[in-house]
Amino acid sequence: MIGDIMNKILNGKELSKIIKQEVKEKILKISDTLKLVVIQVGDLEQSNLYIRNKQKACEEVGIVFELNKMSESIGELELKDQIEKLNSDPSVTSILIQMPLPKHLNSKIVNYIDPNKDVDGLTDINMIKLINKDSGIIACTPKGIMHILNHYKINLDGSDVVVIGRSHLVGRPLSNLLINEDATVTLCHSRTKNLKEHTKKADIIISAVGKSNLIDKDFIKEDSVLIDVGINFIDGKLIGDINYEDCFDKCQSITPVPGGVGPMTVASLLENVLECYYQQKKTV
Ligand code: NAD
Repeated sequence: MIGDIMNKILNGKELSKIIKQEVKEKILKISDTLKLVVIQVGDLEQSNLYIRNKQKACEEVGIVFELNKMSESIGELELKDQIEKLNSDPSVTSILIQMPLPKHLNSKIVNYIDPNKDVDGLTDINMIKLINKDSGIIACTPKGIMHILNHYKINLDGSDVVVIGRSHLVGRPLSNLLINEDATVTLCHSRTKNLKEHTKKADIIISAVGKSNLIDKDFIKEDSVLIDVGINFIDGKLIGDINYEDCFDKCQSITPVPGGVGPMTVASLLENVLECYYQQKKTV
């Protein structure tokens, strides 16, 4: 186990290095080339940054990376054609559509991706497999969070977990993964009447909102485990949803931002590139 001050800091950065090394070693044993194609529609600065991180991570472990940048005005039919070309190209083993998409495109467009190449695990088929505990591709951020909880031996069986945020990217798949591990899950969101009433009782709080300082020490009970998914840029500084300094003494353990969930999302993406390859091999 990666140790910090009595494992108080759940160190995603260090854990991600171990996972990347494991992926690298597995890839070295494969004679086929693994290739991830990222589709980007438009040119959002934030997306450019995330894509560069993915590219760097892929190159570190021996995955071929390709970026297909499309015009912001691309229509659904044209995008569908592009996806189908990649689906039928045997040299492409994984496909990812960088979110967010421009307003005129529905994010459900991911369903055109072959589920065995759906490296983000966002197609309906992979979501249903996740609910049913079938082997499929698990969404990267929830998978990374489960890695952190498992690595640091945080008990889920019977634990009260509050997940804040109900997106298809994080909150929903994560809630299902936690239920599958026998946690009692409360899924809070923007319409939750009294957030604090829920978080105060939670053994584990996982916040995926995108609102800085949403959670301070008044929202948590003693010795709770805090997982911060949020990404907020305040005065050029990256911070999460949870007020780290304020909660530090009261909680049992906490993920830092940066260096917590973020690197684990990227590490899980690399694992999923391998997983896609294995799934495709099974169906040949
Ligand atoms: P989203 O905008 O799709 O969902 C946000 C959720 O927060 C919604 O379900 C909404 O109901 C809820 N919400 C909004 N205000 C709230 C409030 N006051 N109280 C309770 N709930 C509230 O966002 P997303 O894609 O799920 O991402 C959430 C955050 O996580 C963002 O900051 C995003 O950048 C970050 N993120 C980080 C990683 C990572 O790897 N670290 C990965 C994905 C997303």
